[in-house]
Amino acid sequence: MHFVFCPHCGSKLIDKEIGDEGKLPYCSQCEQPFWDMFSPSVICAVINEYNEIALLRQNYVSKDNYVCVAGMIKIGETAEETACREIKEELGLDVIDLSYINSYYLDNKQLLMSGYKANVIKKNFSLSREVDSAEWFPLSEALSHFREGGIAWQLVSSIIKCQKNMVNTDIGVRSTAKAIISYNNKILLNKCYDSNNGHYYSLPGGGQNKYENIYDAVKRECKEETGYDVTDIKFKGICEEICDNEDTKINYKQYAHKLYHIFTCTLASENVNQPTETDDMQISCEWVDRNKIENIRILPTMIQENIKKLIEDDKPIDMGSIHIPYNHG
Ligand SMILES: [Zn+2]
Repeated sequence: MHFVFCPHCGSKLIDKEIGDEGKLPYCSQCEQPFWDMFSPSVICAVINEYNEIALLRQNYVSKDNYVCVAGMIKIGETAEETACREIKEELGLDVIDLSYINSYYLDNKQLLMSGYKANVIKKNFSLSREVDSAEWFPLSEALSHFREGGIAWQLVSSIIKCQKNMVNTDIGVRSTAKAIISYNNKILLNKCYDSNNGHYYSLPGGGQNKYENIYDAVKRECKEETGYDVTDIKFKGICEEICDNEDTKINYKQYAHKLYHIFTCTLASENVNQPTETDDMQISCEWVDRNKIENIRILPTMIQENIKKLIEDDKPIDMGSIHIPYNHG
């Protein structure tokens, strides 16, 4: 917006040379220049954990194309607060993580738009009355739904380009080493309890540390959790669990996706130390008779189903991949 009259006193403005700015509208009464005005706003690419983007239809904007969440910055708000508020208002989703991408100028509406990528958890939408419909699309398909070259198109192009250039080593999978420790025809198990899963057993073991080889992880975890030194470590199988619980994905994301590497081993000696680290869900360590082990509840379920093969077969097995509603110890 270009000023013609002074917004304070109503005098007609004159053009005046103001330093490096060149000629600006100027009020001789108030002795004040006025810069042309534009409105600050945000535009957000709302992306879920499956790399899908939420696209909106607003029939008053376009009948053919989808749009991204966008809105004006209110007085007193930061651009980030506006982004979170608009996403909540338009889609009913909570932002977990917000990253600034770029700013864009929309000439015909005199808007300066700050562009963000907003990470959310996939949920059903709760739409505002301003939104006619919304859908999740794979991010890779998103560009075809926008007006080519438009601001949403530019924002999403930047995000796609950025993802392609990124070598994603941090997909958030926890590499876990679990041990079937045998001694005198008994197996050492952790007895566990939590309110979602009830009573169950689990194999000793835990997450691999950065740059720690997985065999060392087995030794360390067994020592920490059971107090025993183990030896004769053999790889026996692999399985994967992905926890669908939203609270886990947000607050315990390091435990939401686990790849279990299962090993058999024996005791290096009968000497036992006090365990130094135990899980919150762990009640005790228990030696269970080898012939009873197939009849007790072990989590992950894939380990229970395959426990005989894991112990007896030499060849490692693929136990598959499952989604679980709640995490366990
Ligand atoms: Zn004035």
